[in-house]
Amino acid sequence: MTRPRLMIPGPIEFTDEVLDAVGQPSPGHVDPTFIPVFGQALRDLRRVFQAGPAYQPFILTGSGTLAMDSAIANLVEPGDRVLVLDTGYFSQRMADIGRRYGGSVDVLSVPPGDTVTVDQLAAQLQLASYRLVTITHVDTSTGVLTDVQGLTAAAKAAGSLVVVDGVCAAAGEEMWQEDWDVDVYLTASQKAVGVPPGLALLVAAPAALAKWRARRAPVASYYSDWGLWLPVMEAYEGGRPAYFATPAVNLVMALAVSLRQILSEGMESVFARHRSVGDAFKAGIASLGLGQVPTHLSHASHTLSCPRYPAGVDATSLLPRVRAAGAILAGGLHPAIRNEYFRIGHMGAISRADVLSTLGALEAGLRGAGYAVEPGIALAAAQAVLEEDQVYLATADR
Ligand code: PMP
Repeated sequence: MTRPRLMIPGPIEFTDEVLDAVGQPSPGHVDPTFIPVFGQALRDLRRVFQAGPAYQPFILTGSGTLAMDSAIANLVEPGDRVLVLDTGYFSQRMADIGRRYGGSVDVLSVPPGDTVTVDQLAAQLQLASYRLVTITHVDTSTGVLTDVQGLTAAAKAAGSLVVVDGVCAAAGEEMWQEDWDVDVYLTASQKAVGVPPGLALLVAAPAALAKWRARRAPVASYYSDWGLWLPVMEAYEGGRPAYFATPAVNLVMALAVSLRQILSEGMESVFARHRSVGDAFKAGIASLGLGQVPTHLSHASHTLSCPRYPAGVDATSLLPRVRAAGAILAGGLHPAIRNEYFRIGHMGAISRADVLSTLGALEAGLRGAGYAVEPGIALAAAQAVLEEDQVYLATADR
């Protein structure tokens, strides 16, 4: 491959089979060949999130922000108290959406790089009761991973619904939606789910649907209203076509392929592979003497890494050089620390070769930017992790 690898936190590198599906002639959305494909994608989305048949999947045309909008527009009524657990840029977006739909939003914030602990949430729940609590599984602006299982348990014990933004986590970080009792888990196609941008994906638990059905106020967004989408999802899953708004047929076909690839690898293996790849990147970055935004590795995500620039190096001196050496990385995003760090996405059908080529490109870029790096040091550190975990075996089939 002569083009550089796209190693940002979405869009990512997609499998050949997914890209083939995108390039097929578009069937009509009521075409008999398309109906079972849509149905299979709905069923497989539920399985990837590890939710049972009572859970309702939605596949919508739009980006991850639409998935957030869809969850909040349907579950928040004017005056509802909402608590946003804020681990970075995308939590703030969730708070904005909550306010837009009339929610009375409190934000429990931690400094960039910290995670919200169960104790912090429990203390807040002593002060007020909330109709809804939102959690960002992995915040893409800090690389911080939250304890979704523990936080959800605390919020549910206090009687709240729980919405989890899994845009930078779903199909990468461990998630058992039904076992962990998450009411809505949502994501977008372009990240670890492995499909080009354009699909908003969410799965709602029976409790979320019940809250939506019991609304007094109509849903204030037309396009996000579950009342318009639910009959469509039910029809396609039942083998019949239905129409509310034209589905992105080629992306749905690509989604069906990608979800099958993920399920045939197996969720345990997918999670283990991301853990190893994440650990390999962390080890490689540490060996280069770079700091990382998450304040502790125990809450650093496995889908992206957020290394800090060494003294004298910045986005302008580093990122074009890394790109020339073969890997496209992303700059900082969190407004408070934007110029202090950069981001490496490593999710989806990522292989051992991707880890090593990206760290090799990073080493070359750092040297070109004037930071002394012993050639191969990050590769050695990453290889030690990958070989111990035998990740090269786990990725052999994809
Ligand atoms: N939440 C998180 C955690 C994200 O990383 C992103 C996108 N980077 C979004 C929400 C918004 O998704 P989109 O850009 O697809 O609208």
